[in-house]
Amino acid sequence: MKRPTGEERHHACARKRRYRNQGDALDAALVAGVERGRTAYPCPLCGHWHLATKSAGPR
Ligand SMILES: [Zn+2]
Repeated sequence: MKRPTGEERHHACARKRRYRNQGDALDAALVAGVERGRTAYPCPLCGHWHLATKSAGPR
């Protein structure tokens, strides 16, 4: 049985791109042209910002 540990989140964090602040994160999303459906959130693990895919629901 697999239990959800903080390790998985840590891995996800390490694999994600880090941004120093929300502005950098959002700017990166804009550059990638995927600002729609993307949201920046402050990471409690590394203290930086990451981009997360925002599920807008069925369309
Ligand atoms: Zn992080």
